[in-house]
Amino acid sequence: MTQIIKRLEAHVANQIAAGEVVQRPASIVKELMENAVDAGATEISLYIKEGGKLSIELIDNGHGMSETDASLCFERHATSKLSTAQDLFNINTKGFRGEALASIAAIAQVVMKTKREADQLGTEVHISGGRIEMKKESVCNTGTSFTVNNLFYNIPARRNFLKSKQIEQRHITDEFHRLALVHPEISFSFYADDSPLFILKPSSFAQRIVQIFGKKIQDKLVPVSEETPNIRIEGFILKPELAKKTKGTQFFFVNHRFIKSSSLHFGVVNAFEGLIPKGLHPGYFIQISLPAEQIDINIHPTKTEIKFEDEHTLFAILRSAIKHALGQYQIAPVLDFDRDPSLDPSYNGVKLAGAVPQISVDASFNPFEATPAPSKKSAPFQTYKSQSSSWEALYSTLDHKQSDHEAFRVEETKPLSFEDPWEQPALFSEVSGLDTQTNCFQLHKKYILTPTKSGVLVIHQSRAHQRILYEEFLHHFTHEGAGSQQLLFPKEITFTRPEIALLEELSPALGSLGFQMSISTPDAVSVTGIPVAISENQLATLLSDFLDSFQNNKTEADFSQTDILAKSLAKSMGVKTGSVLSLEEQQHMINTLFACKEPTLSPFGKSVFHTISQTDLDLKFL
Ligand code: ADP
Ligand code: MG
Repeated sequence: MTQIIKRLEAHVANQIAAGEVVQRPASIVKELMENAVDAGATEISLYIKEGGKLSIELIDNGHGMSETDASLCFERHATSKLSTAQDLFNINTKGFRGEALASIAAIAQVVMKTKREADQLGTEVHISGGRIEMKKESVCNTGTSFTVNNLFYNIPARRNFLKSKQIEQRHITDEFHRLALVHPEISFSFYADDSPLFILKPSSFAQRIVQIFGKKIQDKLVPVSEETPNIRIEGFILKPELAKKTKGTQFFFVNHRFIKSSSLHFGVVNAFEGLIPKGLHPGYFIQISLPAEQIDINIHPTKTEIKFEDEHTLFAILRSAIKHALGQYQIAPVLDFDRDPSLDPSYNGVKLAGAVPQISVDASFNPFEATPAPSKKSAPFQTYKSQSSSWEALYSTLDHKQSDHEAFRVEETKPLSFEDPWEQPALFSEVSGLDTQTNCFQLHKKYILTPTKSGVLVIHQSRAHQRILYEEFLHHFTHEGAGSQQLLFPKEITFTRPEIALLEELSPALGSLGFQMSISTPDAVSVTGIPVAISENQLATLLSDFLDSFQNNKTEADFSQTDILAKSLAKSMGVKTGSVLSLEEQQHMINTLFACKEPTLSPFGKSVFHTISQTDLDLKFL
């Protein structure tokens, strides 16, 4: 045999190429919406069923296609947006590669109807697995409609990789937001399984942001505007108080295209330095316009990553634009992020003179004396509620080696809740060779150091506490069921619209965890019952953390809502780096940690402790 190389048939080649362009239903929505915008549509409607897995329908009132173009558009590398290689350096349309429709048609069943304004009749094309099955004249409106059914019907392996309806729908919603935000002049509507999710009328950029994210952020938008001869930056940042633990409300648009850029993100984060705590992410909606020849969009099939000719300058201009905006709107640094507002003095005009702190030392208190242990069953949860008495006890027995300054700071420390530590000394010494009542030492308000038989154990305090709380909550939710406590007065909490939609979706799960709530307005929920484990003033932060974590986990197929709730609770209630812990708190922490099922890792998979062996130390002193 002299020839073993064969040219692939077009539909096979398209199927392979589709792997790059179409990962999930959301990719199709993105491509179809972009085509509609490129066709000059002023109204775009999106209908999906089953998270887009069953069907996606996109209708636009753009310029439509001729009968010939109606079949050509499904061919690979067929585009009206580019004709010479030179055009690649001056792209003003969303699409230009001419592969989207070919790819979509290769892996789904597509019906397209299209008509130009000047034509009497339009064209209808049915295409399946890349082959045109039917083409006929059709009576239809000016514009184009696509119906994409049964995604991956011919590639079961890829169909199996699709996630649940909810997850796919959230990906679609993300894409919808990205395009609707950057084209506020276009009307958009989005229906999922026949119910309307978004109906957006033409508006300004700021109004569009509020239409999508809800009134909650209306007065939290800080305008950004900067112009140099070549670059224009405009948009909004969210006030630092809306900074989130997870990335979410972060949008960069370059020449009207949503892009992801870690370096530009860093530019914004850098400008926010000192205004938001480490680990939180600022929110922003930034539009950057620059000459098309200064960017290269053609480095990624989905066109969400681009290359800038002069990234350094852009970074600097962006950073200064944000700093300027923050300065102009007098957003001053908040210095102490770990401050507990409930401990703030009440400045109601009465007692403005500095009060001398009073410390009552309970000389008779002996931490090593057996105290009646709370019953194991109720321990972790009741302890949150009886906080004051427990921390007062700890406070009065401060380690005398601590500096005065730290002694006062202990008030700021979140009280820890542990089961009686003295119940498990045997277990503890067995596990790690530690003597529970020996010294521990807090280093840099971050680590707890304690000697072991063979060296030194360095424990990360915040991760350790997260692990302890996580296991406690998980145990409680799975074994004992989550009880609910009724609130005296329903509590209204505002959320963004996408958050409300998510809360609605999760409400059965939240109900089983002890939350009782109903949607009271399009921007708020009214909470009437909460899990017994949490207190009312933690509620808003907790729910918002929970939603954040949930959204962050959306790509994982096997997350459980209980698990996410336990993680969120552990994260928001755990002691943080920067908290001073008393000797007893440190000992409690060590003991309880080593009674955990998985003490080595935090609930987020990070190391909780390290051992420095004596041999390691000896080697350093050779
Ligand atoms: P690209 O957008 O990269 O050109 P596509 O495969 O997405 O490639 O589309 C191929 C061509 O089909 C486009 O260049 C355009 O001419 C035409 N087309 C696609 N969608 C529409 C639409 N909604 N309205 C009018 N023309 C369209
Ligand atoms: Mg396109």
